[in-house]
Amino acid sequence: MIKRKLVLSFPEKTVTKPIIYKLVKEFDLEFNILRAEITPDMEGKMLIELKGDKQRIDNAVIYLSENNVTVQEAAKDIIVDRDICIDCGACTSICITRALTLDKKTFKLDFDKDRCILCELCIDSCPVSAIKVNM
Ligand code: SF4
Ligand code: SF4
Repeated sequence: MIKRKLVLSFPEKTVTKPIIYKLVKEFDLEFNILRAEITPDMEGKMLIELKGDKQRIDNAVIYLSENNVTVQEAAKDIIVDRDICIDCGACTSICITRALTLDKKTFKLDFDKDRCILCELCIDSCPVSAIKVNM
């Protein structure tokens, strides 16, 4: 029995398909949706934890890929280095879950870890490399 935390990205045409339902039913895995978000252009992102037999999880990942779902191993943590950050806000427009926002009063970056789905999209958006991933 193993556990894997994965970030799933659903393109627009798959968002409404019962892919997750089939994943649970056909692969006999314990399944925990930690966070989920659908963007305005209908792309879906989901942070999940799968628990079960390793081979079944590997098969489930293949099933997801075959259904056009991009699967990536979730980072353990996202870290914003406040000593480097210049509060430019560039990362806030990339972050679909609004884990990264600029405080309306102070114009300083706020990072709400509870909203972060570990998708890592923000990392390349930072001009000073203040966002780092802890694997
Ligand atoms: S990894 Fe970055 S872009 Fe993705 S949800 Fe977390 S803070 Fe937002
Ligand atoms: S893009 Fe980088 S420097 Fe700009 S607010 Fe985000 S973390 Fe800070």
